[in-house]
Formats: sequence, structure tokens, C-alpha cells
Amino acid sequence: MSAPLRLFNSLTRQLETFEPVHEGEARVYSCGPTVYNYPHIGNMRAYVFADVLGRTLSWKGYRLTHVINITDVGHLTDDADAGEDKLERAAAERAQSIWDIAQHYTEAYWADVKALNIRQPAHWSIATDYVPAMIEFARGIADRHCCELDGGLYFDVSAVPDYGRLARAHTDEGEGRIEAVAGKRNAADFAIWRKTPPGETRQMEWDSPWGRGAPGWHLECSVMSGQLLGFPFDIHTGGIDHREIHHPNEIAQNQAHCCSAGQGHAGLDVPGNSGARVWMHNNFLVERSGKMSKSAGEFLRLQLLIDRGYHPLAYRLMCLQAHYRSELEFSWDGLGAALTRLKRLVMAVAALAARADAPAEPEQGWNEAAAVEPASKALRPFLERFDAAVADDLNTAIALTVLEELLATKAIPPQDRLRAVAAMDAVLGLGLGTIGRADLRLRPKDAVLNEADVEEALERRKAARAAKDFATSDAIRDELAGKGVEVMDGDPLGWEWKL
Ligand code: AMP
Ligand code: ZN
Repeated sequence: MSAPLRLFNSLTRQLETFEPVHEGEARVYSCGPTVYNYPHIGNMRAYVFADVLGRTLSWKGYRLTHVINITDVGHLTDDADAGEDKLERAAAERAQSIWDIAQHYTEAYWADVKALNIRQPAHWSIATDYVPAMIEFARGIADRHCCELDGGLYFDVSAVPDYGRLARAHTDEGEGRIEAVAGKRNAADFAIWRKTPPGETRQMEWDSPWGRGAPGWHLECSVMSGQLLGFPFDIHTGGIDHREIHHPNEIAQNQAHCCSAGQGHAGLDVPGNSGARVWMHNNFLVERSGKMSKSAGEFLRLQLLIDRGYHPLAYRLMCLQAHYRSELEFSWDGLGAALTRLKRLVMAVAALAARADAPAEPEQGWNEAAAVEPASKALRPFLERFDAAVADDLNTAIALTVLEELLATKAIPPQDRLRAVAAMDAVLGLGLGTIGRADLRLRPKDAVLNEADVEEALERRKAARAAKDFATSDAIRDELAGKGVEVMDGDPLGWEWKL
């Protein structure tokens, strides 16, 4: 009855029916943030996507093991193997300890994860915890797949079949911008271990057979994913930019590792050789005025949205309204519309809960939701359509409309509807059962009033109305409007911040 889960595999560039490597399980690795600065909301789109993927796998009944890494070393200012380490640079610019910087921005990222109702993965793997394992991995592939240059150990991309297929599947070029390094055999060769240049000091460095230095960014993800999930695992995720350089390089390392570990040749026709069977990429969140760039002053952090009075889950809903493979344009109007939609959803769920006799228990997934018997038969088509939508490469936009139709239908008893809504929200993660309408009323940072001022003015207005003094009552309403507060007569909430 339940629809087969179909996911778009960037490696084969087609929709494929999900077949787990280990029966009943799903093992997923998501490239995590580089913690040299706050994440912008575009970065967070990548984790909302990975979260919806994980929740959908749970809905489908798979036991999920999700890993997200924290990159605290090795990511250069240019993905294509050029520039400086982002963390070393941030530490030098701010004259701070690199470890403090990593700690601070890791915590800031985790705060955004929580605010967006992104489920905790089974492991947060911190790159610097895995340096000995990285050296081991590099040692295993060094002889056959690498060459040692002055700068460190470089991966020879001609040593594996089909290098760059992931990128080439989507563009005609397939090779990113390349730094000229003397002695590289191929332009796309990349460092898997960077020696600290003579005369330079780095805050993060380790001894290795190729000199004191630091691991390359691509190496980290190969090592952490392989170690925590085992090659081959099921799904590897990241933003679409990773399809061009980072993931082709991870795949090349994984091919080298698989064949060095005695698993035959390293061809990509054996899906396991790429490390993961399915590679999935979310498209970008874009913004016209350049506010997504971390290099230019104020940028679009989740906290900026909150400071302006938007609940973070409105941003999550905004992401879910688009397909993850479509580019999504950010605008404040779009965010406002998502907030309005979220308010309606929350109010509809509250109204339903008030009419149901018992609170909904969060469901586990399709199997449990479909087993709500004696649920009215009418429930099934809703659950089936919702299931078909998410099973169709995570079509959350359609899933949301099914949820709204279910909330609006009168034909099904509230109790049954509430249970189904809870099951659907276990996939969407909008917190519909836990947040109330008042939680969505966030005070903008620049508001001149506080909540007590507003309540006090509304008390005065109530008294004026009771005394049929409508001139005073209107004046109070206008005064509040001038200070950014909208009075909503007839709405149980009473008032709202104007955004
Ligand atoms: P980083 O911290 O730069 O390694 O990026 C973290 C994640 O965000 C990666 O998966 C990137 O591919 C992804 N990403 C970067 N920019 C955007 C964007 N504008 N929209 C969506 N995802 C992005
Ligand atoms: Zn990665």
C-alpha cells in the first residue's frame, strides 16, 4: 500500500527506488558546516533538507543512522584546493584561539539546528577528532593513488576511473577552478595532507608521514563517513556546490580506499566504490542583494530573522514549500507569507485539539499512521496522498497541501484527524503539536513597546469601549498601530506585531 521511496541520485542523474544496503536500515551522511563564522540561512537549508530526508526514511520505517560532521580544520577559502584555511584565517584576523572560534560557531550552528526543529543526528563528528584515522586512510591510498609534492600529499585523480563523473553528469566541464601547484600530475589533483610551509606557524597541526601539517577537507568527509557508517552506506547529502569539487574528490578517495582495501577495481560502475550508493544535493537559497554572503557585513543569519520578529519555523516552512532541488529565492515578503501560513496551520491544529477528546500521540511513521484502526476509512486517502508525495523525491510542497486539506475536511472525526496530522508533522517537523499561536508572536528587536505596554494599552481600550467612548478606543488603536502593534478585534490572540 505504501508508495516506494524514490530519490534523485546525482551520480546517475535519475530517480531511483531506495534500496537500503542493510535491510531495514538507512545510513546517511551530511556534509556539515565549516565553523569559522555563523551559518547563513542558505547553509541551514541544506540541513532542513537532510532532516526531511531523515524524517521521511523514519516515516518509511527504516532505522535511521544520520551523521553530520563539523568541519573545524582543512576547508580552504577556495573549494578547489586554493587559498588559506578558513579557520586559521578567522583566528589570525581576530587574534583569537582557533579552538575558541570553532567552539563558538559550532554552538551557534547547533542553536540554529534546534530552532529549526532539525532532529539530532546519531553522531556529530568533529573533524579534528579524526586526524589519526585520516592519516591511516591516507597511508592506505598513498602508494597507488597519491604523489608527494613540496606542499604535502596530493591525490592523483588519474589513478581512479571516471574522476569527476558526479560533476560531469550535470555540466560539460566538470572541473572546478584549479590552483597551479608545481608537480601536480593533473590540474584537478588535490591535497589530502597539507604540510605547514617552512617558516609559517599554524594553530592546528599534526605530525604525519608527509610532514607536520593538516588534513585536506575532502579527506575528512571520506574518513568520518566510512568510519561511522561503513562503506558502502546509503545516502550522502550536501549543497549543490559540493557536486562540483568536494564530492567528486570524496568519491575519488573512496574509490582508491575501496580498491586499496582489496575490493577489486575502483570503477564507479560498482556503486559501492563511491562510498555511498546515492548522492543527493539541495539547490541554493538565493537572495538578490547579496545578503547571503558572509564576507560583506550583515548577512542573513537565522537570528536576524528572529530579531525582526519572524519565528524560525516560518523559515523551515518556506524551505518546505519549495522542492529541495529547485533554487529558492529569499524575500522578506515570502518569509512573511510562510509565517502567515504557519499561523493558520497552528490555529487549525489547536482548534482540532480542542475538539478531540485526547491529545494526539506523535506517530512513528506510515505503518503506525495507517494502522489507526478503527480510523474512519476516509482518513486513508489523505495518508496515502501524503505518503505518495514525500515518497516522490521528498515533495514536501504537495505534502503540505494534503495536510491542509486534512485539517479543513469535516468528514473525519477530530480525534482521527489529529492523529494523522501528528504523523504527518513527524515528517514535516513544523512543531504543530507543540507550538501555539502565541509562540509565533515574536517581538521584533526594534519594537518600541514591550508586551506589558501593549497589554496595558489594551486594558485602557477595553475600559473605553465598555464606557462606549469609541473616540478614545480608536485613538488607542491608532497609537498602537503607530508603534508597530496591530489590534485584532475578534481574534482570541488580541494583537500582533506588525512585521
Ligand atoms: P559550508 O559551511 O560552507 O561548508 O556549507 C554548509 C552547507 O551549506 C553545505 O552543504 C553547502 O553546500 C550548503 N550551502 C552553502 N550555501 C548555500 C545556499 N545559498 N543555499 C543552500 N545551501 C547552501
Ligand atoms: Zn563533506
